[in-house]
Amino acid sequence: MTEDTKCLNPKSLTCYQFQTRLPELIGSEENLIAHPHLDQCPICGALLADLESISEAAHLLFPIAEPSEGVWEQIESAIEEEKGRLEPEDETQ
Ligand SMILES: [Zn+2]
Repeated sequence: MTEDTKCLNPKSLTCYQFQTRLPELIGSEENLIAHPHLDQCPICGALLADLESISEAAHLLFPIAEPSEGVWEQIESAIEEEKGRLEPEDETQ
């Protein structure tokens, strides 16, 4: 193992650039996982893993009332059901 902790590919982002963009990248998680910098840089990979576990812990500590999409679908279909019940048979065909 070498002790060179610099990013291997000078064309790619430096760690500083990558980490500066991290908040924005985390917003779009798919891009972040596929980010080429992570392939080349175990340091930022480890940092990201740390951030993820911190974020998971934060969610456990401060659960945000953030309903999943499924919940909204359930509410919507419940409303539709309710509508159907309230309105008498009115099928204009
Ligand atoms: Zn890096």
